[in-house]
Amino acid sequence: MMDLSKTVDRIKALLEDCDCVLVGAGAGLSTAAGLDYGGKRFTDNFSDFIRKYGFTDMYSSGFYPFESEEKKWAYWARHIYTNNTGMTKMPLYEKLLKLLDGKDYFVITTNVDEQFFKAGFDEKRVFATQGSYRFLQCSRACHDRLYDDTEIVQKMLENTNEELEIPSSLVPVCPVCGGSMDVHLRKDDYFVEDEAWHTQSSAYRDFLAKRRDDKCLMMEFGIGFNTPAIIRFPFDTYLSILSDWNLVRFNKNDLQLAIDYHKTYKLVDVDDFSSYNLPQSLTDRYTPVSYDIELVVDKLLGIM
Ligand SMILES: [Zn+2]
Repeated sequence: MMDLSKTVDRIKALLEDCDCVLVGAGAGLSTAAGLDYGGKRFTDNFSDFIRKYGFTDMYSSGFYPFESEEKKWAYWARHIYTNNTGMTKMPLYEKLLKLLDGKDYFVITTNVDEQFFKAGFDEKRVFATQGSYRFLQCSRACHDRLYDDTEIVQKMLENTNEELEIPSSLVPVCPVCGGSMDVHLRKDDYFVEDEAWHTQSSAYRDFLAKRRDDKCLMMEFGIGFNTPAIIRFPFDTYLSILSDWNLVRFNKNDLQLAIDYHKTYKLVDVDDFSSYNLPQSLTDRYTPVSYDIELVVDKLLGIM
């Protein structure tokens, strides 16, 4: 691993030299920005749910099988508000936007907290593949319209009782089939891909096609192995096949590259690149970074 100042210098040079930037962002970016799903944010905001259900963090509590819609929505209203509709923009996202100033960029993210939008990224240049806490959809996807939940979530919060239930009158019901509603998150085959989702999916593909022969800098932030097939593995592939593309991967622990090794995918640690005879023309274009994202971004912006 390069030391911090060399890493910063290298990224700075890559940013200056590139024609465009492709940002890939996962949960680790929002954690670095201060929106972590455990610790004090969790215990401060969910002490009653922790007492009642024994929850340990906001990630696992999202999978809890609540026994009624009234209980489910009491939880989800708090979760949605805490992580999206009640949250302001986080400084790290604003700094990233500043870093991209004057660059042709595109963002693909699995994050559902809308921080890119809150920070002022151009909505036409962001593809949030996995949905958003700010919208509800029919749980059986009987139609492909999304419903902004900001107001109903506020009402649910105000009317949650001590049993941690909302009144039945506030339980959202699908206006088309009369069935239950869900948060717009990809968790099963009923995820709604509406017109806006398809528009951004095409915009992403267009960016890739238009820029394939240019100097593109991929900046990947905090993507582990929960859903690597969406951003991380494709980025590894672009690095392998597009000779003018560079990849800067920010990750605290997982800095491996996925390579095509005798026709199978193999994850190779940075220390093992030589054992796999990875060509220097490839490894020279890969910059693994385990330093704190905000620390590096601050240095790139000359803030500290
Ligand atoms: Zn429906």
